[in-house]
Amino acid sequence: MSSATLLHSAQPLADNPWHNAQRQFDAAAARLELSHSLREVLRQVRREFTVRFPVKLDNGGVRMVEGYRVQHNLTRGPAKGGIRYHPQVSLDEVKALAMWMTWKCALVNIPYGGAKGGVIIDPTTLSHRELERLTRRFASEISLLIGPESDIPAPDVNTNAEIMAWIMDTYSMEVGHSVPAVVTGKPLDIGGSEGRAAATGRGVTVVALEACRTLGRDPEQTTVAIQGFGNVGGVAAELMHHAGFRIRAVSDAFGGITSDTPLHIPSLLEHRRRNRRVSGFPGTREISNAELLELPVDLLVPAALENQITAANAERIQATLVIEGANGPTTPDADAILERRGVRVVPDILANAGGVTVSYFEWVQDIQSFFWEEGEINAKLERVMRRAFAQAHEQALAHGVSWRMGAYLVAVKRVADATAVRGIYP
Ligand code: NAD
Repeated sequence: MSSATLLHSAQPLADNPWHNAQRQFDAAAARLELSHSLREVLRQVRREFTVRFPVKLDNGGVRMVEGYRVQHNLTRGPAKGGIRYHPQVSLDEVKALAMWMTWKCALVNIPYGGAKGGVIIDPTTLSHRELERLTRRFASEISLLIGPESDIPAPDVNTNAEIMAWIMDTYSMEVGHSVPAVVTGKPLDIGGSEGRAAATGRGVTVVALEACRTLGRDPEQTTVAIQGFGNVGGVAAELMHHAGFRIRAVSDAFGGITSDTPLHIPSLLEHRRRNRRVSGFPGTREISNAELLELPVDLLVPAALENQITAANAERIQATLVIEGANGPTTPDADAILERRGVRVVPDILANAGGVTVSYFEWVQDIQSFFWEEGEINAKLERVMRRAFAQAHEQALAHGVSWRMGAYLVAVKRVADATAVRGIYP
């Protein structure tokens, strides 16, 4: 069956994340010369679960909501992956995000398979109490799948530690005892981990430094633009600023700002905390998100959503190094253009793997009921990220391919080997 016949969405194929995730897998599988049967197993998701449920509104009304939980692969361990709340969530998007999670966990070599969840909702249209009711009902709907040994959610776009606490509480009430290890990215008070909130942005910073070192670049001479100023982009901006990078532009869903001199990120974080957006920061010029991507900077960090660098703008990207903080920000068509133009890309499955790595540390701490200190966690995270970068780089050099393909070769081979050695049941 061709991949096109598997798609349900009306989205153009080039922008369909599931189509793109399968294309990336197919390219790696071909280079690894995987058997036909292994390719058939790995290019599909194992389980896709759609739920539709009512949420009581504060005004007495009811709103029907649709959500998904998808498990791509469980061969190397329980499924792991975030939950996203966004009006543009689709089943194909969640399937792609679940597949990328499988490769990400394998690349950093943690014992998980890939999953993802999503709810089609703009959370800014809900009150805090409505958000809690939606979350608890969604958690209950997907409790058939989730559990500390089967599938462990975490935060993603528009979800946070508080939402994880509601999911943990709902699941625990249903089983009759506290189960902290059912989600990660929780508040510290209920079994969260030191260092988890900043882990993805910290990992982005570690690989940015590794990429600069590998390419012989000085971070203090490297100008940066960051798209997205949330959990990933905001923390990456702060840590990259402290590492000496010259951050010249950032953006969020409301638009972007740029300056000819480096932005003072601690003051910008304070401005964003007060105004809930980056625009209006003194001494800066307003730009659109599209303009930010094409600025004359050395390093671009897309840290918002998928499909930001496409065939339509890839020729105009001026940065020569891209670190993918977001999942799927570059389409395969754009990737080919960037590669031809000599733009180096640290792929999402490597660049943003810091979050799931510390999620794994959190899960291990919950299971052992023995908690580690932040310094220890950050040091372990840094080691994992450096090792994954080195392995992807080594494969890229050995095969004369991009860092993305190098990372896929490491990750897909680990999952394929595990699948082959387990065999097919029954
Ligand atoms: P978040 O909700 O904390 O932040 C998202 C940011 O992007 C916000 O600043 C928002 O205003 C901005 N944004 C939204 N739409 C935008 C648009 N069209 N243009 C520009 N900016 C826009 O989400 P997050 O957790 O930071 O996730 C961002 C990306 O990183 C996603 O692709 C997510 O899957 C990925 N990711 C997150 C984690 C994690 O630990 N949170 C881990 C790995 C990957």
